[in-house]
Amino acid sequence: MKPIQLLSPKSSQRPNFSILPPLGLYIHLPWCVRRCPYCDFNAHVAPEVIPEDDFFRALQIDLEQALPDIWGRSIISVFFGGGTPSLMSAAFIDRVISMVRAYLPLAQGAEITLEANPGASEAGRFADYAQAGVNRLSIGVQSFNDDVLQKIGRIHDAHQAQQAIYAALAAVDRVNIDLMYALPGQSVEDCLKGVHRAIDSGATHLSIYQLMLEPNTVFAKYPPELPREEDSAAMHDQIIDTVTDIGFEHYEVSAFAKHKHYGAHNMNYWSFGDYLGIGPGAHSKISFPHSITRMARTRNPQVWMQQALQGQGKQVSERYEVKATELPFEFMLNVLRLKDGVPYEYFTARAGLGGQWISKAIQQAVDKGLMEDRFDRICATELGWRFLTDLQTLFLSTQES
Ligand code: SF4
Repeated sequence: MKPIQLLSPKSSQRPNFSILPPLGLYIHLPWCVRRCPYCDFNAHVAPEVIPEDDFFRALQIDLEQALPDIWGRSIISVFFGGGTPSLMSAAFIDRVISMVRAYLPLAQGAEITLEANPGASEAGRFADYAQAGVNRLSIGVQSFNDDVLQKIGRIHDAHQAQQAIYAALAAVDRVNIDLMYALPGQSVEDCLKGVHRAIDSGATHLSIYQLMLEPNTVFAKYPPELPREEDSAAMHDQIIDTVTDIGFEHYEVSAFAKHKHYGAHNMNYWSFGDYLGIGPGAHSKISFPHSITRMARTRNPQVWMQQALQGQGKQVSERYEVKATELPFEFMLNVLRLKDGVPYEYFTARAGLGGQWISKAIQQAVDKGLMEDRFDRICATELGWRFLTDLQTLFLSTQES
């Protein structure tokens, strides 16, 4: 008689979905006035005249060719990211949104965000973007101190930043401000002053990141003098105290929202939803009934454009199925960033696997005080949030448990 086999996760197992996760659309617009020395995004110095017509046609083909992967699914959010999307004309954004609506069902009230930089968005353009359908603007302010802005190579000053925020708030209800801390020449006091200016501006959402010296950037090669570690830590803690005292909810590691104005597009990433990314360098995660596929587009805008216009699908430079064994870690990498985590059933609904894949690691995390001991939610404790990488790493070792 054969021994009875106990059910346990196996590397040969595949995810299984009865209903596919929500789907967002990301559109990458790669050009900037100039490259900031700390930037590791897929950003390129804009040509004198941006080839909007060719770029639009390439985007259209890129989207058309992706349609078989997402038949019948509606889009919950659209995000124009970059680069500096506000370098594009409102007429271009209007054409793109109309094209998206023509090809795909856009959920009612879907959030449509556009990233803009002060100094790369002339007056009046935000109102035209809103007219085209953009209902959320995200402004790359980074700092309200002119000296600091210069040191990090930004093209705008504090006055222009303030003007851009006012123009954004006049155009749409939801405005995010991106800020950075631990910047060259920045003191704790100056950092908090900037945070207060951001709060007072009326923005509904703040995204606040520490400056990191990423590989392959000018700052990695020629590192600037940064604040001492203890000052950076003080900035981090005091930013959180200041922002939350004033009524913003710290709902994700780097994100703060007023009146529950969470960023819908990013919430979808953090809760392990699907996303289709079109445009140079854009990434996608698409679920099918028995698999999850990741894709990447060619990074160079010129090459991506040529490949898309040739119509043979070559602009998709990478496409592979995610192994089931990789999904617990990928899932936790995202959802544990959320302060309240996600409902427990999201693991099956969005990673397509049974709870046995994560139960052992969750128990370990609970025993270490890093995760809440709850049946209904997957959620880090305060301690787990503070040592998030340690917590997430627990889900690496359980991949084939
Ligand atoms: S504006 Fe933003 S995307 Fe462009 S180079 Fe600077 S950091 Fe990178």
